[in-house]
Amino acid sequence: MTRLSPRLLQATPVTVDHAEGCYVHGTDGRRYLDFTAGIGVTSTGHCHRHVVEAARRQIGSLIHGQYTTVMHRPLLELTEKLGTVLPDGLDSVFFANSGSEAVEAALRLVRQATGRPNVVVFHGGFHGRTVAAATMTTSGTRFSAGFSPLMGGVHIAPFPTAYRYGWTEEEATDFALRELDYLFATVTSPAETAAFLVEPVLGEGGYVPGNTRFFRGLRQRADEHGILLVFDEIQTGFGRTGKFFGHQHFDVRPDVITIAKGLASGFPLSGIAASEGLMARAWPGSQGGTYGANAVSCAAAVATLEVIEKEGLVDNAAVRGRELLTGARHTATGAIGDVRGLGLMVGLEFTTDGAPDRDRATAAQQLAAKKGLFLLTCGAHMNVVRMIPPLIVTAEQIDEALGIWSEVLAEI
Ligand code: PMP
Repeated sequence: MTRLSPRLLQATPVTVDHAEGCYVHGTDGRRYLDFTAGIGVTSTGHCHRHVVEAARRQIGSLIHGQYTTVMHRPLLELTEKLGTVLPDGLDSVFFANSGSEAVEAALRLVRQATGRPNVVVFHGGFHGRTVAAATMTTSGTRFSAGFSPLMGGVHIAPFPTAYRYGWTEEEATDFALRELDYLFATVTSPAETAAFLVEPVLGEGGYVPGNTRFFRGLRQRADEHGILLVFDEIQTGFGRTGKFFGHQHFDVRPDVITIAKGLASGFPLSGIAASEGLMARAWPGSQGGTYGANAVSCAAAVATLEVIEKEGLVDNAAVRGRELLTGARHTATGAIGDVRGLGLMVGLEFTTDGAPDRDRATAAQQLAAKKGLFLLTCGAHMNVVRMIPPLIVTAEQIDEALGIWSEVLAEI
């Protein structure tokens, strides 16, 4: 008999037995504090009772009803509930299963709606691993290595990453907007550009928050040239940054947002939201798929939104996020060149003599796991340790994590 081995990039040596709230229990009998939340997915904590009950109830009545042909109750409830939290003007939603699919849906929509071929993306952005999404991803060569040719029509402009250049936020923003204008003057025309695709906070690219002047600069250019502004809210949505959506920190209006991860507490569900008028310009038949808006995922999403509201998780993310960021800055040693973040997305960049230090970041992550704290790395050089706990995290759990983290820093 052949024993199959799943291909895993296993960050921690633990096999999970079960998980509850902010903790994961290994088959080794140990309990681990989970500051990864399944890459920002289990925002309501692992196996929140309300979400589990809603999913259980739904499984017994309808699992699948192909939603472009069959309307079902959880989908109706979800669209109603989402309507109360989506930004003003985004009153139409299309559902898929993964973040990458949502990004591709957004790409199809903006091209069809504008009749233009090009998309401008921003350096360090991550948008997924399907071929189009990987083409628009610039947070590391590993995401598109070895399967060229990639999709055409993608242009890259800088994101204001002050730390990388050793600049102030102002200088980095000036540079980013100037280079965008230069791109339009020399490489591609704004009249050929369907959309800007940008994350409010670079996620996989190293937890770098954007800023108001930069995003307003994009909005202004979008308005001037009929370009659509797409915020990829897959990692930053549903309270993660301390506001319901990440772009809401920056007082800027999106034309389209992509959503996934925190939407359904771990059940596969993603989507895009846009205005009714814009969505109507999608060509019939071009958006869809067998499994989108799965009934159990929709029921879990409704329950997730209820938990976020009832337990005040957006505010909790803001308050706990500030504690985490302050604590992480306080405990930082010389190995850490920068500590940054927004809400419960906190990144610690490891450097040695100013250069990215992936080895130390990996060592810190592994030692933390041994000591009972799960963390992930990110960034083009994988030298940023990120802390992204469930939004239900308490002040005591932040202290517990920071206590373990200080020990880790003292030992590596
Ligand atoms: N966009 C962003 C901002 C993401 O963080 C991710 C996942 N890390 C994706 C897109 C892709 O999502 P998925 O892995 O579900 O395809």
